[in-house]
Amino acid sequence: MSSEPFTLLDGKQLAQEIYDTLTHKIQQIQPQVGRPPGLAVLMVGDNPASAAYVRNKERACDRVGIASFGHHFPANVSQAELTAVIHQLNQDERVDGILVQLPLPPHLDAEALLYEIVPEKDADGLHPMNLGRLVRKEPGLRSCTPAGVMRLLQHYNLPVEGKQAVVIGRSILVGKPLALMLLDANATVTIAHSRSSDLKAIARSADILVAAVGQPNLVQADMVKPGAVVIDVGINRIEDATGKARLIGDVDFDAVKAIASHITPVPGGVGAMTVAMLLENTLGSYCRALLPEAQSIIQ
Ligand code: NAD
Repeated sequence: MSSEPFTLLDGKQLAQEIYDTLTHKIQQIQPQVGRPPGLAVLMVGDNPASAAYVRNKERACDRVGIASFGHHFPANVSQAELTAVIHQLNQDERVDGILVQLPLPPHLDAEALLYEIVPEKDADGLHPMNLGRLVRKEPGLRSCTPAGVMRLLQHYNLPVEGKQAVVIGRSILVGKPLALMLLDANATVTIAHSRSSDLKAIARSADILVAAVGQPNLVQADMVKPGAVVIDVGINRIEDATGKARLIGDVDFDAVKAIASHITPVPGGVGAMTVAMLLENTLGSYCRALLPEAQSIIQ
């Protein structure tokens, strides 16, 4: 047992458990299908953070037995070329999931590219059709980061129903879909953002406080209700005086852990869960497309 007054929500550990489960399921299903699940990852340019994320995703695919198809394009690739590749991948029978690693260089329209992915292969759950299904509470591929947050809460048996949840950040990638998922789980949800007045008071009302902003140490101890569950989605790369880079979240972890009942670390929290949810989505698409009778295995 930890002697700390708070519980660490260990996304890295939970992701490993999910990988073990996925490995087992793929071993069960693959002989019937005759090929492994496949995930295509499109990356543009040489952004080191994106390259690291893509490497992580490919490594995770290898670990569970998903074939990954990397497509790396130069930074000056055209919208038309990327669109053509997405159309090919939509037709490619070895590919169950397609994701475009964001952000893209400014000359490319990421939103338009997401529209080109067939919703059934939208492993990131960002296609308007899948976001619409989330709004309507219909089954569909869910955005990975918010789904990872919900899975962490569920795994640690943290009640959501009837709780006050505050999500700081309203992006289509994280804040909005997460607010909808919390709402579907019967939380009373507030979304705070850059124009919210008195962020501190809003944050302090939260039983479940999520920070998804991209601002190092935005959430300080005086913004947290004692005993709250604090989820840090932020990933910020900062350099120390020697030029060495490290990742920190949006929450001042050392200060807030003294107040919170549960808290995610960065790294090793939500980021790890995002990758696990991506692989789950890919397996889900593989089964739905090829093996309707395997639905019970993927539940
Ligand atoms: P974004 O820039 O699209 O959105 C940021 C949001 O924060 C906006 O809605 C804005 O209104 C709000 N905001 C900005 N300044 C604010 C302030 N001072 N007070 C309150 N709200 C403020 O970013 P995003 O794509 O949603 O990502 C947010 C963070 O989460 C980033 O650090 C990103 O790297 C990280 N992220 C992590 C994962 C993961 O897997 N852990 C996945 C996606 C994004």
